[in-house]
Amino acid sequence: MVEVTLRLFFFLFFKKGLYLRPVHSSRMVSDGFSLTESYDVAVVGAGPAGSTVSKILAEQGFNTIVIDRKSRIGVPVQCGELIPTPTEAHRLFPKSKIMPQAIHVHSKFITNKTRAIRLISPNGSVFEFPFEANIVDRARFDQHLASLAENEGARFLLGSIVKRRSSTNELTFTNDGSENSIKAKFVVGADGAHSIVAKSLGVNYIHNVANLSQSLQYVMSGVDVDPTVVEMHFGSEIAPGGYAWVIPKGDRVANIGFGMRRSIAKDNVPLRTYLDRFVFKTIASSLKNFKIVSRVGAIIPVGGPLKKTWSKDVLLIGDAAGHVMASNGGGIPTALCGGVIAGYAISKHLNMDYPLSEYENKWRLEFGSELDTAVRVLKIADSVMPSDTNTDICMRLAGVKFLEPLIRCQLPLPVDLASKTLVKILNRFL
Ligand SMILES: Cc1cc2nc3c(=O)[nH]c(=O)nc-3n(C[C@H](O)[C@H](O)[C@H](O)COP(=O)(O)OP(=O)(O)OC[C@H]3O[C@@H](n4cnc5c(N)ncnc54)[C@H](O)[C@@H]3O)c2cc1C
Repeated sequence: MVEVTLRLFFFLFFKKGLYLRPVHSSRMVSDGFSLTESYDVAVVGAGPAGSTVSKILAEQGFNTIVIDRKSRIGVPVQCGELIPTPTEAHRLFPKSKIMPQAIHVHSKFITNKTRAIRLISPNGSVFEFPFEANIVDRARFDQHLASLAENEGARFLLGSIVKRRSSTNELTFTNDGSENSIKAKFVVGADGAHSIVAKSLGVNYIHNVANLSQSLQYVMSGVDVDPTVVEMHFGSEIAPGGYAWVIPKGDRVANIGFGMRRSIAKDNVPLRTYLDRFVFKTIASSLKNFKIVSRVGAIIPVGGPLKKTWSKDVLLIGDAAGHVMASNGGGIPTALCGGVIAGYAISKHLNMDYPLSEYENKWRLEFGSELDTAVRVLKIADSVMPSDTNTDICMRLAGVKFLEPLIRCQLPLPVDLASKTLVKILNRFL
């Protein structure tokens, strides 16, 4: 009893900030509950993947804790904020039964709706095709997902950076400079491209720079573009091994950013130079009384799904598992869908010793082949995109008929067959 009282006293008065916080709180001091040491499930990362899996696990009665380094969930926003509509998601992942429901977004989080994607080649040729998307307020959306989990009983430990996971599932984290740890029967890595949990399994992404798209984005006001169209610009000067985007959020505000891979770039130009070149040269005519509202940078893992996404008491989801569409960089739909699959797989595993391989079988069935195809598309693009002339020729030859499926994680047979020969010819003569 004395020990319990002392521990409570210690937590309440000396460990400032080490409290489980209500997810909407932006304060460092909690009016929540104090930390216990052992959990059924510890989820690292309170992004869409982490909050989705936590909600299901808490709902199923598991004592669940979510740890995130951010003090406020979803802030800063490191995202273009585009989520395909459920109908569009069905076109992207036709085999998935879970996806359309998993990615449903309540209208109160939607700031704009777009109807098309416009591709712009290095020499300015335009290719447009229909693509319905919701542009969301990502910070509020992430906070909403977390509050759904919290309402089911999941606890959130914010402002805490997980440093290590031991083989016995002890998670060591720092909070306000001090080091602490908790134990869990099961750990979920939902901690993004730099996943510490994946690293503890020896399978994370970071070692291969070709798999990482470095991105930088401005949120800008005073942007005069068609608010119903998302633009994707290609060119080695703009985004080597990737593309630059203009995603209208409504009210002349847009997310303007780019993703590039150093393995494809010919020079070592800073990311900011690329983005400024795009904003103030390529799309300068669209800016009127503009303002840069905020700037964020982050990594997008584009090497495709990890070969194995689970071990006996650990599982990876979202970006940590490489669940990103390599041909367009989108990862929210697969993070949400993977979170649902993981939630039920872990629950069955903990309740009935159900094999965890079920998780991997299921996500591969739902969206795995599309993610693999997207990696093949990116590899073909890699052999073309270092040359702007080749990119222009290939985009013109492909036309909307073939460019549309390529962006949608599909590889039409004629493109697959033609690509190797065509790339060889182009690289030889141009
Ligand atoms: C610039 C940019 C634009 C993008 N635009 C889009 C888009 O428009 N549409 C789309 O579908 N996808 C987009 N993506 C990709 C998308 O953001 C991700 O795929 C998606 O957020 C993945 O969700 P997640 O839950 O797996 O990871 P995240 O959302 O990255 O969440 C991971 C969480 O883990 C936490 N974390 C990480 N490490 C630790 C640690 N050691 N300890 C504690 N917490 C930790 C982080 O703070 C974070 O909150 C974009 C990505 C970037 C970088």
